[in-house]
Amino acid sequence: MTVEELSELRNRRYNATVVSLKLLNPDLMVLRVKPDFVRAHHHAGQYCTLGLGYWERRTEGCQVETLPERDVTKVVRRAYSMSCSILDESDRLMRLEDNDWLEFYIVLVRENLDGRVPALTPRLFALQEGDRIQIGERITGHYTLDPVKPGDSVVFLGTGTGEAPHNYMTWELLLRGHTGKILNACCVRYSRDLGYHEIHRKLMARYPNYKYLALTTREPGVSRKVYIQDLITSGELEQELGTPLDPVTTHVFLCGNPKMIGVPVRDHHTGVTTFPQPVGVIEVLEARGLNVDIAATKFKGNVHFEEYW
Ligand SMILES: Cc1cc2nc3c(=O)[nH]c(=O)nc-3n(C[C@H](O)[C@H](O)[C@H](O)COP(=O)(O)OP(=O)(O)OC[C@H]3O[C@@H](n4cnc5c(N)ncnc54)[C@H](O)[C@@H]3O)c2cc1C
Repeated sequence: MTVEELSELRNRRYNATVVSLKLLNPDLMVLRVKPDFVRAHHHAGQYCTLGLGYWERRTEGCQVETLPERDVTKVVRRAYSMSCSILDESDRLMRLEDNDWLEFYIVLVRENLDGRVPALTPRLFALQEGDRIQIGERITGHYTLDPVKPGDSVVFLGTGTGEAPHNYMTWELLLRGHTGKILNACCVRYSRDLGYHEIHRKLMARYPNYKYLALTTREPGVSRKVYIQDLITSGELEQELGTPLDPVTTHVFLCGNPKMIGVPVRDHHTGVTTFPQPVGVIEVLEARGLNVDIAATKFKGNVHFEEYW
């Protein structure tokens, strides 16, 4: 492709600029993107798409992609939850009106051995500040604080970058002066994968009703692997929350790895529910009297989820 063709494709297909790119480790980043248009009204917890042309460079050390010639001028798009750093440079709660970008928290997927070759993240990790990108104009999703009432206990359980929408929702709860307890737990492999840890430490020191729990499964020196499911069955989650998981006054939000979430399949004719194996958090919570939201039936439960794949 000539330089002119490349420039023409970028001009035509991109509608936003990378205003900040912070690598937290070589495979994890906080990306801020400023759209060319007025940022759409949205709710904490929602998502939009990001896209880059297949013609863009992939970062090194990723699975090799073989691309048919006809696809080279196409754009690959993926969904991303909006994230939030919660505090500004002066450590005050951020104010939306002070900025014009959207924040994303993204992990590099270097290879995928049982599906398609990762297309977008190897290209996102080759970006630099000032580069152009495509952003979806529509911000959407049901994973929001809509069902939460003042005084409710709110429990966020995420894996990896599944923490993104929880950070945005935490920001909103703190801004609203939410009086109920807020527990934000995130399960990662290594502590270097906890991109917002320092911010959560500051928040805990400032807000007595806020707690962040970092769980690592592969950190050397940490002898005990704790998965989110274990945390609930052992009673530790309630201890950390400081109150029982009362189905009437608790909302639980689950985001990230579908195996952690464990969405059940309901047979609407027989009424039989089948839970996936290994046991996911929804099964554990339903055994405790909480109920998952079922979008198709408009049944409103107190366990809400967002699967990343
Ligand atoms: C509603 C929604 C919101 C999302 N928000 C985020 C977000 O905020 N941050 C983010 O990093 N990703 C998020 N994702 C996943 C994202 O859309 C992409 O799938 C991911 O960035 C990988 O893109 P890819 O093209 O490189 O690989 P893909 O071809 O899209 O995915 C290849 C494989 O990578 C694995 N994978 C995908 N996402 C992740 C992940 N986050 N962590 C670990 N493994 C993963 C899965 O095994 C998947 O099959 C979200 C997905 C959905 C549906």
